[in-house]
Amino acid sequence: MTLAYIGIGSNLSEPTKQVRAAILNLDSLPDTDLIAQSSLYCSKPQGPQDQPDFVNAVAKINTKLKPLELLNELQQQEKEQGKVKKRHWGERVIDLDILLFADEIISSEKLTLPHPQIHLRDFVLLPLAEIETKIVIPNQPPITDLIKQLVETFVEIKI
Ligand code: AMP
Repeated sequence: MTLAYIGIGSNLSEPTKQVRAAILNLDSLPDTDLIAQSSLYCSKPQGPQDQPDFVNAVAKINTKLKPLELLNELQQQEKEQGKVKKRHWGERVIDLDILLFADEIISSEKLTLPHPQIHLRDFVLLPLAEIETKIVIPNQPPITDLIKQLVETFVEIKI
């Protein structure tokens, strides 16, 4: 079994409901257990500003799936929740990212691990630190330092 952390976001079709449904669905993936989930965070969009605020969360899972198998399952789940990508950093019913998969480092066409934006986004770092205060992100300083160093912030409130 491998510990992995999933970033979840939504800003369409009742985002809070979408994020909660996505977290519950993680426990139904094959050979996968949901271990922990963060609070939900309301964040302003990082892309175009003419779209609703996002609801974000992070979930911790234990899985027997390989990284690409997990990515395929998450993309299937996104499809089932009705994800349609309209524009870069645009509005979406659901977005599921693999933030960390143990300490694996992967750089391929389909999958980058750790997620390339993980250290720059408060809506990822704050919920991640909430469920794993001493998480080590490969090739990055301690998460508390990453949070202090953020130059841009998006999180407005913890729900
Ligand atoms: P987006 O719709 O903006 O979330 O982008 C999804 C694309 O990012 C997919 O085509 C994935 O193959 C790719 N991708 C690369 N690394 C990751 C990752 N760590 N987690 C989720 N998707 C990833």
